[in-house]
Formats: sequence, C-alpha cells, structure tokens
Amino acid sequence: MQELKIYNSLTNKKEVFIPLQEGHVGMYVCGPTVYSNVHLGNVRTFISFDLIYRYLLHLGYKVRYVRNITDAGHLTDDNAEDKISTKARLEKLEPMEIVQKYTVDFHQILQKFNLLSPSIEPTATGHILEQIETINTIIDNGLAYEINGSVYFDVLKYNEKENYGILSKRKIEDAIENTRVLDGQSDKKNPQDFSLWKKAGPEHIQRWNSPWSIGFPGWHLECTVMSTKYLGEQFDIHGGGMDLKFPHHECEIAQSQACNHVTPVKYWMHGNMLTMNGKKMSKSTGNSILPNEIFTGDNEHITKGFSASVARFFMLQAHYRSILDFSNDAILASEKGYNRLMEAIGLLPKLTTSNNSTFDVQAWKQNCYDAMNDDFNSPVLIAHLFEAVKVINLIKDGKESLTKVDMKGFNDALNGFIFDILGLEKTESGNNNSNQLFGVVEMLIEMRNQARADKDWTLSDKIRDELLALGIQLKDGKEGTSFSVN
Ligand code: AMP
Ligand code: ZN
Repeated sequence: MQELKIYNSLTNKKEVFIPLQEGHVGMYVCGPTVYSNVHLGNVRTFISFDLIYRYLLHLGYKVRYVRNITDAGHLTDDNAEDKISTKARLEKLEPMEIVQKYTVDFHQILQKFNLLSPSIEPTATGHILEQIETINTIIDNGLAYEINGSVYFDVLKYNEKENYGILSKRKIEDAIENTRVLDGQSDKKNPQDFSLWKKAGPEHIQRWNSPWSIGFPGWHLECTVMSTKYLGEQFDIHGGGMDLKFPHHECEIAQSQACNHVTPVKYWMHGNMLTMNGKKMSKSTGNSILPNEIFTGDNEHITKGFSASVARFFMLQAHYRSILDFSNDAILASEKGYNRLMEAIGLLPKLTTSNNSTFDVQAWKQNCYDAMNDDFNSPVLIAHLFEAVKVINLIKDGKESLTKVDMKGFNDALNGFIFDILGLEKTESGNNNSNQLFGVVEMLIEMRNQARADKDWTLSDKIRDELLALGIQLKDGKEGTSFSVN
C-alpha cells in the first residue's frame, strides 16, 4: 500500500497515516445545520471530505464514514436560540418540517455534485438520550455543573489538568474574548464555560425532558456523543471546516476527555473556506452563491450556468487546506480545463498502440499517487492529469507511442483518478452525453428524411412521434429539420 501523509491540525504537521486498526478507518465529519439551503461554501467542505473518503477507499481501506445532521441545538451567537426553532417560528412550520425540507435539499445537492453517501448519517434529535447520559457522566466526573436547569462545562476546572486550547492553540484568556455574550450567561461560573444543556424558554419549541429541566442539548455535545457511539472513544479522522476548529472542535475534545479520559481523535483535518471577493462565503452576510444558481447561472456574480462537475473540478483545483476565491473568470477557466480533460479521455479508446512505449506510464502514475499521498494534493494530481492530456494528443499525432499493455495501464489509471478519486462525471460534460444524444437524434432525422423520400409515412411519423414521447421535438423548417429537448 502507498504511504499516505495527512496534515494533522492537532500537531500542525504532516504525519504518516497509521490507522488505529489496520486496514480500517473511522472518520467523522461535522454535517450541516439543516435550517437553510446549503451554499457553495458548505459544499466545498463536503467535497473536500468526499475526496478524502474516495481516496481512502481507493487505497483499499474499509472506511466507516459518519457525517451527522444537526437538527437541534445549534445556538445562534447573539440570543442563545436554536437556529431551527427560530426558523420554524418564522416560517410557521414544525421544526421537523424545517429539518426535513433542508435535509432533502442537502441530499439532492450533494448527489448532484456526485458525493458518496456516508456510511452513517446520525441526527442530533435521534440521540437525546445518549447526550443526557454523557452530561451525567461529565457531571459525575466533576467537570460540569447545573444552574437554574441548565448545565455548563467547567472549562477552568478542566484546564487545571487538561489543556483547553490543545487544538486551536488559544490561551484560555483569549477564549474569553471570543466568547460572545449569550443569553443566560450570567448563570455561568465563567464566561468560557459552554452549555451542555439549556433550559428551554417559552420561545423554544424544540424541547425534551431531562433530569435538569425541559430543554435542549448544546451544539458541541452531539458530535462527541455520535462519534463515540459509532466510531468508539478513539477514532482516526475528524474533519470539518476551519471555522469549526474553535469553539466547536475544541469543546468536542474537552467533552470526550472529560467523559472517557482519552483524547478522541488521532488526526484532525480542517478544510479551508470558499471566499468570494476575498470574504468568507456565508449565508448570513449575503456573500454567497447557492448550488442551484451555479447550475442556472441566475446570480449576479456569474455570466452563465455551470455543470456540477465543472464546479466540483473548480473546487478540486485548489488544495483543501488553501483558501479558494470564487469568481466568474476562475470558474470559466476551470470549465475550459475540464472540457480539455474530458475530450482527451474521450480520445483514449481511439488511440492506436505500437510495439514500444516512449512514455513512462508507471512513473507518471506514481507521480499522481505521490500527489494524493501528500495530504490529498488534488491540484498537483490535476497538473499530472494535464500532462496525460498532452501525451494523449501527442499519441494522436503520432509523436508518442504506447504498447498495448501500457495503454491499458494508462487508461485504467486515468479513469481511476478522474472518475473514482476526483469524482468527476462524464455524463455532465457538454461534450460527452449531450454529444452522443445529438448524434443519435441527427441519425434518426436522416432516417426520417430517407423514409419521407421513400414516401414511407408510417416510419417517418413513427420516428417523429416516438421522439416526441421522449421529450424531443422535431421542427421542420426551410433549413431542414432541427430539434429541441424539453
Ligand atoms: P454549518 O451548516 O454552518 O454548520 O456548516 C456546514 C459546514 O460547512 C461546516 O463544516 C463549515 O465549516 C462549512 N462551511 C461554512 N462556510 C464555509 C465556506 N465559506 N467555505 C467552506 N466551508 C464552509
Ligand atoms: Zn460537529
């Protein structure tokens, strides 16, 4: 097996990846809070981890990939209110209607971008009992306290023995600065303490019974509880966007440590942000593009629509740890590159082979693996794929040659990297499927013309009607017959 190196945000170093259990990988990635449509920035993070998941599978690991759905307990900064409850009140819907609506949307969008489904997709509301149990354990271990029906994690006490800040490298004093004033904060012993359970106010419509009050769990808790339940007290990889490092992931480490007395995660991985005009893409500031707007082109920042595969390719042209700035010019350039790649792949089966190879397929393939083994470096991999495009064009022009065996190896490797690992799709390219459809319809039009010339009206009508039944309408005009697809 190839030696894979992963950048670990816990140590800030690239480390050789050695799973806790040989041949198996446990990976947890923080999923979306389902109270609004995902924007392209959210999608970037999930594509980054899809690439990672796909590559681990490609290397032959048995991966259990857990990605949660946050359907309760995500407090907004300023009023300690559950985002889902807030939205439900605004839209006059049941919280679970909001959850259902945006979970369906999330799945549909990710499917369009060709993301593989995780092995388990647990929800916060499905694990309230486990969350209550975990809070009890943390209280028993002396690291949480109850005040007025709410339970808080005692950060200062935890920090006496452990290191609150181990991941974010923040000093505990800085953590205070970054903790906004929350509703009910006066209850806390110290401002950096975070809630494990919040007593519900009359405005909170998502509420559950607990030993402390009728209320709801704090956001950080669900990920600790669900990752432990499905992956164990210690597991290999935990991922999410960079913005989750603090406080969310820092709090997860503290909760797990307080509960299980072990550090939960071996490799912490953080994807960088998608920005637009240099600012983080975010729903709340309005600086965002929705996936559907990318497909239709219906957004002031773009001049036309782009396929999901092109948008995915655009994202993968940046390393997951680099900031990526979205712009019309940048995605237009990606589209050109994507089309070149797909054209070359289309040419491959038509290339002739020779008796000897002048291009070293094995070395090229290893370069591709080296790129991916270097912390999933997709832009470097893509650069090697463009070398392959050059080689394909040279073979076509008779300036390079490959033996039959090398050609097969080249073809298999290219397909593997492009479709299995990068997860790009042939079908969506403007010059594959649609070209084939175009060719087939043109052929039928010619056959219909022939039938009409032969006065075989039965056949000519049959061709027209059956195409129409498939949603393809033929239009006879002065210039000949054209068609439109509905
Ligand atoms: P949320 O639903 O807000 O919890 O976000 C879901 C995921 O999207 C998290 O992993 C965030 O870190 C990530 N995310 C949010 N905004 C961006 C962005 N502009 N670029 C990349 N990832 C983002
Ligand atoms: Zn999480």
